[in-house]
Amino acid sequence: MTGIAFIGLGNMGIGMVANLAKAGHDVHAFDLSKEAVARAVDLGCVAAQSVADAVSAADVVVTMLPAGAHVKAVYCGDDGVFAHAKTGALMIDSSTIDVSDAREVIGVADALGFAMIDAPVSGGVGGAAAGSLTFMCGGQKDAYDRAKPVLDLMGKNIFHAGDAGNGQVAKICNNMLLGIHMIGTCEAFNLAEKLGLDAQTFYDISSTASGQNWSMTSYCPAPGPVASAPSNNNYAPGFAAAMMLKDLRLAHGAAIAAEASIPLGKHAETLYASMEASGDDGLDFSGIMKLIKGTL
Ligand code: NAD
Repeated sequence: MTGIAFIGLGNMGIGMVANLAKAGHDVHAFDLSKEAVARAVDLGCVAAQSVADAVSAADVVVTMLPAGAHVKAVYCGDDGVFAHAKTGALMIDSSTIDVSDAREVIGVADALGFAMIDAPVSGGVGGAAAGSLTFMCGGQKDAYDRAKPVLDLMGKNIFHAGDAGNGQVAKICNNMLLGIHMIGTCEAFNLAEKLGLDAQTFYDISSTASGQNWSMTSYCPAPGPVASAPSNNNYAPGFAAAMMLKDLRLAHGAAIAAEASIPLGKHAETLYASMEASGDDGLDFSGIMKLIKGTL
């Protein structure tokens, strides 16, 4: 049995922590929300009163927090993980944060002698609950090898993407591509319909032709062709437009730092920002179809 500290018991963290507890580990769970901690206790965890309390006896620390500022505070703060973790503890941050923040925090861990990886996920709340997340990991190979058995309890596909921060790189580049091809798919279905071609017929043709892509065949933004898609459920998330916008903003920031040109990524960000401005960013990200159709 491994002693695990889990910090950040929100939409994603609660499913992840449940799978660690179910596997028989001694999981000490902490969140600023007392209700979230109570839910974790119901799922087999021990309630921690603070970050320090959660990590002081842990062999492995897992964090699932909203953004880079939270991750820096939780790890580097006076009452944080680094100040209270025991020697030799392994740290896994699964939050989606800036590449530069991930590299900074892992650099501090390294200087203090802690092994740490960034391990952001895809798969959403459903994947967290089902233990079928994809983990994209960055950091030293021996830290990744130590983390892998823990990640296996929460995920199905686990990748070592290279050095510190490379997990975040994989995550934001993948999601930038996803945002772009979702918008392109919406444009194609909308234009086809306006020109007199119904969604199912266009789907049948394009899904076997060169326009085929994941947004079309697994998550079709036009209602009808893919029964399980949010488009058939009034665009209830799923993966909310707000989360897509967060990832596009992270990609934009990273692209500026790397001096990489991302004209379509920036345009996708602008379109998702208009869903935010109109208060529609709680819809699934495929709900950008409504913006394209002019029905938001
Ligand atoms: P969430 O807002 O539901 O949960 C975050 C939790 O962190 C909250 O319960 C909050 O109280 C807690 N928290 C914040 N600061 C804290 C602190 N200092 N100490 C302890 N707890 C603290 O967010 P989420 O949807 O679970 O997402 C978590 C991360 O996973 C984010 O980085 C997000 O981008 C990423 N992610 C989310 C999804 C998704 O579908 N929700 C998918 C992939 C990745």
